[in-house]
Amino acid sequence: MEELLAPFRSPDIQVTLGINLLLAWGFYLTVVTGQLSLGHSAFMAIGAYGASILTIKYGLPLSVGLAGGTLAACIAGIVVGLPVLRLSGMYLAIATLALVYIVTLILENWDFAGGRLGISGMQGTSIWLVWTLVFVVGAFLSFFERSRLMLAMRSARENGDAARAIGMNLTAIRVSGFAAGAALCGLGGGLWAHYIIFIDPYQFGLIKSFDIVLFVVMGGMGSFWGPVLGAGVMTILPVWVRVLKDWREVAFGILLIVMMGFRPQGIISPEWIAARRRKRAAKKAGKAPDASVLPVKLRRAADAVDGEVLLEVQMLSKAFGGVRALADVSVQARRGEILGVIGPNGAGKSTFFNCLTGFIPPDSGAALFGKTALHTLPAHAIARCGVRRTFQQGGVFGSFSVRNNVRAGQHATMPVYRSSLLPFLARKEEQEGEARIRGILEEVGLAGKELVTAGSLSYGDQRRLEIARALAGNPELLLLDEPAAGMNQTEANGLADLLRRLRDRGLTIVLIEHNMSMVMSLCDRIYVLDHGEIIAEGAPSDVAKNPAVIEAYLGDEATGPTP
Ligand code: ADP
Ligand code: MG
Repeated sequence: MEELLAPFRSPDIQVTLGINLLLAWGFYLTVVTGQLSLGHSAFMAIGAYGASILTIKYGLPLSVGLAGGTLAACIAGIVVGLPVLRLSGMYLAIATLALVYIVTLILENWDFAGGRLGISGMQGTSIWLVWTLVFVVGAFLSFFERSRLMLAMRSARENGDAARAIGMNLTAIRVSGFAAGAALCGLGGGLWAHYIIFIDPYQFGLIKSFDIVLFVVMGGMGSFWGPVLGAGVMTILPVWVRVLKDWREVAFGILLIVMMGFRPQGIISPEWIAARRRKRAAKKAGKAPDASVLPVKLRRAADAVDGEVLLEVQMLSKAFGGVRALADVSVQARRGEILGVIGPNGAGKSTFFNCLTGFIPPDSGAALFGKTALHTLPAHAIARCGVRRTFQQGGVFGSFSVRNNVRAGQHATMPVYRSSLLPFLARKEEQEGEARIRGILEEVGLAGKELVTAGSLSYGDQRRLEIARALAGNPELLLLDEPAAGMNQTEANGLADLLRRLRDRGLTIVLIEHNMSMVMSLCDRIYVLDHGEIIAEGAPSDVAKNPAVIEAYLGDEATGPTP
């Protein structure tokens, strides 16, 4: 027992543990956005050298040194992250791998910073300083965990396309997380340098980066407690297993196998955290007074007139190799109508939506939304103009609660950075936002399911939730890609009622749908697409009688168009 407690009494371990927590949180802020970085040791090096140069070479106080090192690491994070985080996938891992080598190489050859010998003579870090900073950072993170920015960071990881479709700028979100993480590692590096008194370029190699990765892999990344546990275990364990002497390697091996086999998501799993949050929220919800439910808010200019052209698509074309998915498609959607877009599978309907919403660049043509040229904007900017869409394959954030899906949908209508960093300046907006979440869920028929995990909802409920999330962004134009697919007729009727209500309140809806009875009863006008071309347009009754349409599409009705 005495031996097990020994490491906790050692000042070295206490300081290392504190610094490791900062490093683990730094890495955590990157991985929650769905990006892997192997370069956090480089930011630690930049922080360590930055701080040491300021204190040793320029004789400045420790506080200035630490601030300078942290800032330098943060700037380095932005400089590295900005070009790389525009891309997705493994690019960040590769770029940060290179960063570690480049930083090491520069430090080796930088005579002013001592070259291979490094810098020595720093001092001044105490256990108190380290742990005060750890508590300040931890306290902020425990609040930040529930902020809208964190929700956006997790959305980017969960489903990037869905995140863009609700107005999230993935690059900005990822760079924010990455730069903040780099800053924390820089702070950790500065503290480390001034505790061990001596630094050289080799302390901050890839091995250090892997250590940091392991902290978070071990602990789990569902919440900021995961890295705490991981860093704790990985700091204390090597000291404990020293007691095991010959058994050390065996113990580590077994631990790793057990982790990979039984708990690849880390010690603290996201599911466990979700369940806990649900419990806590349920308690709170029981006590909260039932706030007056606000109706869904829709964007609409004061001088807007029903029937005016809201969306003007001109000669839109898109080819995939030899396939002409869209060929000179011209469509007008008028304010306050439900416009149907029908056609057989492969006709180009989804491609039409993808071109309108910035997910696929059209080859030629234009899409004007009021005075805004949509075809020149990226997806998140289009969403911010008040255009919202759903996805044919469904795009809810499956691991989020129903409530958090809708909350994420408010991203573009909320002062996200202000409410996440200076919450006391955004209280009014937050209160209103909360009330609207309830109102929207009421409207779409998901009231009472706020705390359910979205992925476990029935198919029809997931489609409704996706619409709820779209409505949370106060849209002016709503594009729905086969929302009734997989619904039974009762559910489809409920959906039709919802869409009618929304239209009557002034929302303009473009609806791609195979459910003919729904299309015919719901739509004010219909366009028929076939092989990328508009073959008919008009009132439902006229379109249904059009011979070309019957041949291309409705004629299939006997066999039923496959969804
Ligand atoms: P619909 O939604 O009407 O069923 P789509 O717009 O999904 O049709 O597809 C139209 C045509 O374009 C199909 O032939 C499809 O195979 C092709 N297509 C759609 N998206 C892509 C893509 N990303 N890459 C290559 N071909 C595509
Ligand atoms: Mg489609």
